[in-house]
Amino acid sequence: MLQNLSKVVAQDKNFLNIINGRSVPALSQETITVLCPSDGSAFATIPQSKAADVDLAVRAAREAFESGPWSRTPAFERGRLLTRLSRLIEQHADELGALESRDTGKPVRQGKADVVAAMRYYEFYGGACDKIHGDTIPFLDGYTALTLREPHGVVAGIIPWNYPMQIMARVVGAALAMGNTLVVKPAEDASLSTIRIGELAVEAGFPDGVLNVVTGYGRDAGAALSSHPGIDYVTFTGSPATGTFIQQAAAANNRGVTMELGGKSPQIVFADADVEKALPVLVNAIIQNGGQTCSAGSRILVERAIYDDVATALAERFDRLVAGPHDADLDLGPMINPAQKRRVENYVALAAEAGIEVIGRGSIDVGAPATGFYVAPVLFGAVDRAAVIAQEEIFGPVLSLFPFDSEQDAIQLANSTEYGLVAGVWTRDGARQHRVAKRVRAGQVYVNAYGAGGGIELPFGGFKKSGHGREKGFEALYDMSATKTIVFRHD
Ligand code: ADP
Repeated sequence: MLQNLSKVVAQDKNFLNIINGRSVPALSQETITVLCPSDGSAFATIPQSKAADVDLAVRAAREAFESGPWSRTPAFERGRLLTRLSRLIEQHADELGALESRDTGKPVRQGKADVVAAMRYYEFYGGACDKIHGDTIPFLDGYTALTLREPHGVVAGIIPWNYPMQIMARVVGAALAMGNTLVVKPAEDASLSTIRIGELAVEAGFPDGVLNVVTGYGRDAGAALSSHPGIDYVTFTGSPATGTFIQQAAAANNRGVTMELGGKSPQIVFADADVEKALPVLVNAIIQNGGQTCSAGSRILVERAIYDDVATALAERFDRLVAGPHDADLDLGPMINPAQKRRVENYVALAAEAGIEVIGRGSIDVGAPATGFYVAPVLFGAVDRAAVIAQEEIFGPVLSLFPFDSEQDAIQLANSTEYGLVAGVWTRDGARQHRVAKRVRAGQVYVNAYGAGGGIELPFGGFKKSGHGREKGFEALYDMSATKTIVFRHD
């Protein structure tokens, strides 16, 4: 469908791959048409890269790693380049925010917030470059043993469409900080900010081949990249099913991986919680980015004594939510594409068929073009714990409420899905805060908060089906490097 459109609709811009410091089309010259989710209009193209393009990018990254200047660039110089990139992003903040917003359909204020987060990642990792170091190890008499943190080599970064600029930044920032070179493959539905930041990296002065960007479909460019024998490490954020493919591809070359695979994250509201403080956070955690967020708080567990009150208050808030075009800057934008819209609508229909009650429903703005990919937010009450919508990641503005009876029951319910990415705990009881935070299986637990501050400094990743490895903060620097032990004998 996308290719056909490219012939008939004028393009605002044709974006190109970045390979070895140069902007180039796909070798085949084929493109993918970029649609704005707010109205379905085509406004740009990206290269439809295949295995041959990926191979060129991997070779460029290899060359830059092995023989180029990168492997000899001191850590503080790498840091300066990352910081320079952060400053360039700041200078282009309006352009980048608008681009991200148009490409993904997210409200403009979210596009702006993503630019700030991206800047912060490059700034954080720019500063971290020369502050991470190895150990000296007490060893045998006559020996000195020490460790170095060494880069893996060439890293493949496979990026999803929901927060492309932010997720690129956390991957690229950490990988380059440790001295790796990279080939980044953004999602076919949202590649533009990745390409633009790749261009800014060239302007910042990163040597040729250090950061390459290759766009294309997952089954072509993505599969070629994750299975390429020239890749030393793969980092991926996306769906568990695609994560399995990528791990299998990397396993054929016995390469390491970091996998961030989404969640079904609970927020637990105890009867003693400050509910007024919690309410806007509970709503925002599922509405942000239209619920197309790995860490979306998609399950609200409420202690039975306050269940009815919380359900009523949330329903009132849901009824007021409005979805609309990105530039109208309403509560939420459209879904990324028609398939995602259908997927969310199917989950809602399935829940209705199962007899689960809709207790709150937002609307689609009257001015929203019928050609956009909108869904109205939906709040389901008293959801059966075994229901499909209680277990599966919907990746849309659909929130499920569950009553619980005791702390024990809440923990069990929180841990009752296959996922384990993020959790929220709302209670004034200090001992309970600690108990519950420790017993919930999630990579991040927030107490009386949720997803605060963009999370640049906070290690992030999952238990169970949510994946493995950690991104963000200093932890990502360990994932993006390997320990080398050196032993000197001097007796
Ligand atoms: P979605 O299904 O919601 O589009 P995915 O998890 O499939 O999300 O996509 C995330 C990223 O993975 C995108 O960059 C996509 O192109 C890429 N991708 C999809 N399929 C594959 C695959 N078989 N191998 C490698 N990458 C893939």
